Amino acid sequence: MRKVILSRLRTWPGALSDGLILLCSICGERVDLDYNVEDVIWEKLISEEHRRSVVCLFCLDRLAEQENIELFDHIQNIQYAARGRTVILKPTKMFIYDNDNPDAWRIRAFQR
Ligand SMILES: [Zn+2]
Repeated sequence: MRKVILSRLRTWPGALSDGLILLCSICGERVDLDYNVEDVIWEKLISEEHRRSVVCLFCLDRLAEQENIELFDHIQNIQYAARGRTVILKPTKMFIYDNDNPDAWRIRAFQR
């Protein structure tokens, strides 16, 4: 396995590679999806203790929800590391489900 020491990198890598296994510094789970988010949101949501580390998308979303920030509006892309390549995904649509009334199946859709 290739070893990459992130703290020695001058700039954050453009995407995760398929040989790089990182753990979220908040929940400790393996991070399979990388992302880019607006710097202002990163600095608002992530404490200084974690800013030079990896935070998984799910932890970022949970922190955004606690601050009433809709992450969909601020995620620039999501990166999926496939074998030998990285696929960049752009958020284009979001669905919000009405969890308080699951029988209603009311869904609100938002598009960029
Ligand atoms: Zn996490």
